[in-house]
Parts: sequence; structure tokens; C-alpha cells
Amino acid sequence: MTTRSLRVAEVEPLTSQITRFRFEDPDGAQLPLFSGGAHVVVEMPDGDVLRRNAYSLISDPMDGSGYEIAVRRDDAGRGGSRYMHTHVHPGNTLRIGAPVNLFSLDLRAKKHLLIGGGIGVTPLRVANPNSFRGCNCRPNCSIRCATGTRRRA
Ligand SMILES: Cc1cc2nc3c(=O)[nH]c(=O)nc-3n(C[C@H](O)[C@H](O)[C@H](O)COP(=O)(O)OP(=O)(O)OC[C@H]3O[C@@H](n4cnc5c(N)ncnc54)[C@H](O)[C@@H]3O)c2cc1C
Repeated sequence: MTTRSLRVAEVEPLTSQITRFRFEDPDGAQLPLFSGGAHVVVEMPDGDVLRRNAYSLISDPMDGSGYEIAVRRDDAGRGGSRYMHTHVHPGNTLRIGAPVNLFSLDLRAKKHLLIGGGIGVTPLRVANPNSFRGCNCRPNCSIRCATGTRRRA
């Protein structure tokens, strides 16, 4: 997997469990654009272990000035999300893979219904027709999102 070193530009707690991270090129270069629903793999050098977790991109797909992700801390996991919450600070550098999209829309469809819950809403955040500018999305195609959480953030 090809990765590039990106600087952590912002770290913002959104809730007690979810933190938003913004990554930018250290030299201010533009990053490759992506399509709505794409994710990146973040490499985390955690002691002797190199952790690799996928995170959906929540920033504007047509804005190459940076990538943003939202990470939910899961203390029952192998440690990747905990690492992000406890070790990653503005000014740090992390290696990040190129955007990959496992949730791209079938652009032949006229209507899309996207359903997500909890942190699973992240790929839906950028699911609007503008996210698909440059693609052959059908004219007037409609995208509806249904989301839910167990409790209010
Ligand atoms: C395409 C994609 C996009 C994603 N986008 C986001 C996102 O936007 N935001 C976000 O917060 N997360 C996202 N994730 C999930 C993310 O990659 C991590 O899984 C999550 O952050 C937890 O990481 P972790 O290392 O702390 O835990 P992990 O080790 O990944 O564990 C996650 C859960 O799986 C269970 N588990 C782990 N190993 C085992 C095992 N061997 N047997 C049984 N259960 C096990 C753990 O109990 C834990 O609850 C995404 C995942 C994918 C694949």
C-alpha cells in the first residue's frame, strides 16, 4: 500500500468518545481528491506494533487542502482508536494511504438511500450530489440518508 507522510493539523474532540483529526501535506501540497464514501488507512507506530486502521473521510471530497476523519474511541479494540485519542497531537506526522472507496454509489440509479448508525455515519457525511461532481451522476439524482445513534452525542 502506498502511503504518504501527513502532518496532523487539527485535533478536535467532538464528543467524549469521538475526535476529529485533520491532516495536511507538510509542504502545503494539494492531496488527491476523492469521492464521497472513501476512506484512508492510517498507520500508527504503537511501540513494536504498526497498527493500520481504516477511517472514512469526512472532509469535502473536492478540497485537496487536507483530509479529515472522525475516530470513535473503542477501548475493547486492539488499540488503534485508543492510540489516535491518546498519542496523536497537532504537529505530529502520520503515514496515510491514498483514498479508497468501498461505498461508491451506483451512478446509474436515480435514488439512493444510505443507512448508517453511530460512528458508521461518517461515510454518509459527504454523501451529497456535490461529492460526486465530475462523475456521471444522473441529472437530479436524489440521495437520502437515514442515520441514528443509541443516544444523543
Ligand atoms: C472502511 C472502514 C471505514 C471506517 N471508518 C471509521 C470511521 O470513520 N470512524 C471510526 O471511528 N471507525 C471507523 N472504522 C473502524 C476503524 O477502522 C477501527 O476498527 C476502529 O477505530 C477501532 O479500532 P481499534 O484498533 O481500537 O479496535 P479494533 O481492533 O479494530 O476492534 C474493533 C472492535 O472489534 C472487536 N475485535 C477486535 N478484534 C477482535 C477479534 N479477534 N475477535 C472478536 N472481536 C474483535 C473489538 O472488541 C472492538 O470492539 C472504519 C472501518 C472500515 C473498514
